[in-house]
Amino acid sequence: MGYICKTCGNKFSILEKRFRCDCGSPLDLEIDTFFSKKDLQKRGESIWRYREAYGLPADLLPVSLGEGRSPLLKRSIKGDDVLVKLDFLQPSGSFKDRGASVSISLANYIGVDRAVEDSSGNAGAAVSAYSAAAGIACTVFVPDYTPDGKLTQIRLYNANVVKVPGKRQDAHHAAMAAARTSFYASHIWSPVFVQGLASSAFEIWEQLGGRVPNMVIVPVGSGGYLEGLYQGFTLLKNAGYTRSIPQIIGVQALNCAPIHEAFQRGMDSFADVESSQTIAEGISVQQPARSKSVLECIRASKGFTIGVSEQEILEAVRTLFTMGIFAEPTSASVLAGWFKLEPKQRKDAVLLLTGSGLKQTKKLAELFPE
Ligand SMILES: [Zn+2]
Repeated sequence: MGYICKTCGNKFSILEKRFRCDCGSPLDLEIDTFFSKKDLQKRGESIWRYREAYGLPADLLPVSLGEGRSPLLKRSIKGDDVLVKLDFLQPSGSFKDRGASVSISLANYIGVDRAVEDSSGNAGAAVSAYSAAAGIACTVFVPDYTPDGKLTQIRLYNANVVKVPGKRQDAHHAAMAAARTSFYASHIWSPVFVQGLASSAFEIWEQLGGRVPNMVIVPVGSGGYLEGLYQGFTLLKNAGYTRSIPQIIGVQALNCAPIHEAFQRGMDSFADVESSQTIAEGISVQQPARSKSVLECIRASKGFTIGVSEQEILEAVRTLFTMGIFAEPTSASVLAGWFKLEPKQRKDAVLLLTGSGLKQTKKLAELFPE
C-alpha cells in the first residue's frame, strides 16, 4: 500500500501530502488488498462497499454522502440494445463524487485542514461538497474569465474561490503552489481520486450479475474516469472475478481531441492540436497531464477512441431528452460515439453518462431555443 512512481520507481507513504513524484511524474497507487464477494453481502450501497480497493488504511473513516450505485438501464436505441449508466445521479451531480469522497477521506485521515483544487466544473463542485461534509476548508482556483454563474455551486458549498488571471494553466499552477502547504485533491493528479472512480467498474460488474460488458464508452478530457475504469476492471480480473476486461472506448469532441489524435497517430502521449470551443466543455482539455497512462489503458484494453462533432453531440443530447434522461452535453458525447459504431461492433456496450443537465439549464436553453 502506498504511492509508486512508474517513471523512476520511487515509493512514498500514502500519509504524505504529496500529489506527484519528486521527478514530476504522476503517481500510482499500489493496491495489495481487495474485497471478497462475501464482504459485499453485508455492506451498504455506497462506493465504500469496495473500500479495500482504494489502498487506504483500514481504520480510515469515510467522508461519504452516499455516492455510488448509479442506475444501469437497459434501453433500445434505433433497434439496438445498449446499457446506460446514469452516473450523474450523485450527491453533487457528477461521477466526480466517487473520486472526491475517497480523496477527501484521505485528507481528513491525515489531518489536513485545507484542500485545494483547480476546476470550475464538476470536479470543483465535488471537492467543495466533500470538503464541506468533512469540515475541511476548500480553495478552488479558477481562470479569472470563468463566469460567476458557473461557480454558484462551488461558492454555496462554502469554498473559497480564487480567480487567477491568465489561462486555465495559470489556475493549475496557482493550485500546485498552494498544494505545498495544503492537500491537493486534484481530479487529475491525485491517485486516490482516480482510484475512487474505479468503483464504477465494480458496480457495473455487480449490476450485470457478476460479469463485465464487451465495452464501456466514456468521455475523455483529462482521462481520469477512463483510467479509473481500466484499473477497476483490471483489479476484478486479477482477483479472478472475471476472465476478461471490457474494451475501453474514449470519446472526445473533435473541437478539442488531443488524445483521439494521439491514438489515431500511434503516439504515446497527447498530440499538439488546435482547439476551439465545444459544447462538451467538460472534456475540453488541450494538454491532458496523464495522457500517457490514458493511452496505455485504451490500448491495453484493446479499445480505441472516437471523435465526435458538435452536431453529433447535439443530436445525442436530444436523443437522451426523448428517453427522459437529462444529461449535460459532455455526457451525451458517449452516445454520439456509440452511434458512430457499426451495429455489430456496438453490442453489449455500457455508456457512462457523467454529468447532470440540471447544472446547465441556461446553456441547454440556448442550445435548444423554443
Ligand atoms: Zn518519479
